[in-house]
Amino acid sequence: MTSGKRIVLKFGSGILTKLHSVEPDPVQMRKLVEAVALLKQAGHSCVVVSSGAVASGLRPMQFKERPGDMTTLQACAAVGQTHLMHAYESLLRDHDLHVAQLLLTHEDLGNPDRAERVRSTLVRLLEFPQVVPVINENDSVAIEELRFGDNDKLSSQVALLWGADILLLLTSAPGLLKDSTRPQDGPIPVVDDVDEVIHHASGDKSSLGTGGMASKLRAVQEAVNGGVECIIASGRQAEQIPAVIAGQGTCTRFTVKRLQ
Ligand code: GLU
Repeated sequence: MTSGKRIVLKFGSGILTKLHSVEPDPVQMRKLVEAVALLKQAGHSCVVVSSGAVASGLRPMQFKERPGDMTTLQACAAVGQTHLMHAYESLLRDHDLHVAQLLLTHEDLGNPDRAERVRSTLVRLLEFPQVVPVINENDSVAIEELRFGDNDKLSSQVALLWGADILLLLTSAPGLLKDSTRPQDGPIPVVDDVDEVIHHASGDKSSLGTGGMASKLRAVQEAVNGGVECIIASGRQAEQIPAVIAGQGTCTRFTVKRLQ
């Protein structure tokens, strides 16, 4: 018997890119992949939901900044997705792991037959301990996450579909700040009722990602209501991810909503 947990790790564009830049950051990606490898070594089952397709497409498409129109963003994601997967493939290989790519839309997950196909594919993939599923929105046919969520909602839907124990949302903030004007006060350690803090969420967004704290808290709300514990932590401190999963570290934990 293993004490392994089923963990969905969500990597937003803002933590896959260099600080204050739209360029993908290979060092940051290496650290995040290392954290996944450590979690797997510890007996956990991991699914990654990763943005970064648009970011990875910028340089090959010769854009200096994120394009403004949706069709160009979709084109950029189509180019960038292959670069993104190539990066995961080579970084995971260093740990004798292999990437499995799943490109999904909310419509896929809203359709019971397709959702069941996705769930059973995921479950089968996870029977192979050397495989790490990496999921992104299928940006050439769907624009929800390009427009609003930076994969926040997609990650909670995947966590619910799979029946994950934990959804770890890794972002540029260390958690839900006690006071967004005083980051030095740090994050709220535990939130038992996400409905009470949802007003905290500003629409703040990083220069590349489209999510922000409001979109994260909405994703958390859906997940905890469905029985998945959520954690928001800094993806810039990837070395603390195993500690965060073990119940330590700096982060905000959202406890599962118990039905009365
Ligand atoms: N699916 C998109 C990506 O991977 C979402 C993030 C974004 O809008 O930049 O790039």
